[in-house]
Amino acid sequence: MDEPLVERMRPFGETIFAEMTRLAVETDSVNLGQGFPDTDGPRSLIDAAAHHIRDGVNQYPPGLGRPELRRAVAADRSRRFGLDHDPDTEVYITVGATAGIAAGVLGLVEPGDEVVLFEPMYDSYAAVIAMAGGVRRPVTLRPGPDGRFTFDPDELRAAVGPRTRMIIVNTPHNPTGTVFTRAELGVIADVCAEHDVIVLTDEVYEHLTFDGAEHVPPATLPGMRERTLSISSVGKTFSVTAWKTGWVMGPAALVRAVRTVNQFLTFTANGALQLAIADAITAEADWVRAQRDALQAKRDRLAAGLRSAGFDVQRSQGTYFVMADIRPLGFDDGIELARALPRTAGVAAVPAQVLYDDQDAGRHLVRFAFCKQDKVLDEAVDRLTRAFAP
Ligand code: PMP
Ligand code: GLN
Repeated sequence: MDEPLVERMRPFGETIFAEMTRLAVETDSVNLGQGFPDTDGPRSLIDAAAHHIRDGVNQYPPGLGRPELRRAVAADRSRRFGLDHDPDTEVYITVGATAGIAAGVLGLVEPGDEVVLFEPMYDSYAAVIAMAGGVRRPVTLRPGPDGRFTFDPDELRAAVGPRTRMIIVNTPHNPTGTVFTRAELGVIADVCAEHDVIVLTDEVYEHLTFDGAEHVPPATLPGMRERTLSISSVGKTFSVTAWKTGWVMGPAALVRAVRTVNQFLTFTANGALQLAIADAITAEADWVRAQRDALQAKRDRLAAGLRSAGFDVQRSQGTYFVMADIRPLGFDDGIELARALPRTAGVAAVPAQVLYDDQDAGRHLVRFAFCKQDKVLDEAVDRLTRAFAP
C-alpha cells in the first residue's frame, strides 16, 4: 500500500522524546533525554487520587472539568498574578497541556493562517499547526553573551504580518530554559496589538524558575488578557508527568473555541485526578517551592558536570533542561551525536536540531534533562567524562 498517512503529517515521525527513551531503554543508558522526574510527586496528592478512585469517582466529570479544580486554578491565578477568571466560563480542563494546545490551534487557526512561534520549538506545536493546515513562522532564539537565549525584536516584527493569526509563547521555555522578561513580553504584546493577533501561551514550567527569575504570564501585560489563551498543567508542577491534566484560561470566547474542538478529541479528562489536584494546588505549595529549589541545585550539578566533561553549557533559568554546545568536544552534528551517545557513552540526550526549522541554528546543540536524582546525574557525568576523555 502507498503511504496511508495524510500528507500534512508525513514530516512527523516518532517524537524525538519517545525515540530517545526507547534508545535509552535498549542500551540501558542513563536517560537525560525525555523530561520526566525519577521521583514521585507529593504523597498527599497521590493518596488523594487513590482515595477518590476507591471512593467511586470513576465516571465522566462535567464537560468543562471538575468545578473544584476550575475554582482552584482560578483562585491560584488570581492570587499569584492578579488575573481573574470566571471558573465557569474562562477555565477549562484538558488532558494535559498537550490537548489544550492542540484544541487551541485547531479551534482558532484557519487553513493558510500563519502562526508565529519561537524556535527551538516544543515538538507538538509544529504538528498541531500542520493538523490545522496553518503555516508556521519561527523566530529563532539565540544565546546572548551571557549564554541566555533570546530573540531579536526586529526578527519578530518581520515575522508578524497580515496573515498572522496567532503567536505561541512558551515561558519558561523548553528546551532553552529562558524565562521571558517583562520587557521581552512587552515587545510581543506590542506586535500583537498592532496586528490584532491571538496569543497562545504554554506555561507548564511556570513554577520551575531559578535564581529568582520571575515567571510573567503574558496575559498580565497591558492589553493582553483579552487576546491570550493561557495554558498550564500539573505534570511538571507536581512531578506527575503521566497524569496528563491541564487547563486553559482566557476570555470566554477563546476558551469556548478550545472546548468546541476538544469535546470531540478527548471529551473530558480524569475526574479523580482533578479532585486530587484541586486540593494540592494550595495544600502542597511548599512542596512545589522545595522542588523548584532542588531542581535549581540539580541544574548547577549537571551543568558543572557537563562543563567538566567538555561541553559548553548555555544558561538555563528554568524548566528541566540545559542546552549544551557540542563543538568544544569536536562534534558538529547534534543528531548524529545524540543517536550515538546511548551506545558510545551509555547516556541519552535530545538533539535540539529537530526542534528548529533553521537547522544550522540548532545543529550543535543537545538538550540534557536534570530532573533526576543526584546519583543519576553523577553517573551520567561519569559516563560522559569517560567517553570523551582525551
Ligand atoms: N509544553 C511543553 C513545553 C512541555 O515541555 C510539555 C512536556 N511535558 C508539554 C507542553 C506537555 O504537557 P502535558 O504533559 O501536560 O501535556
Ligand atoms: N515534555 C517532555 C520533554 O520535553 C516530553 C514529553 C513527550 O515525550 N512528549 O522532554
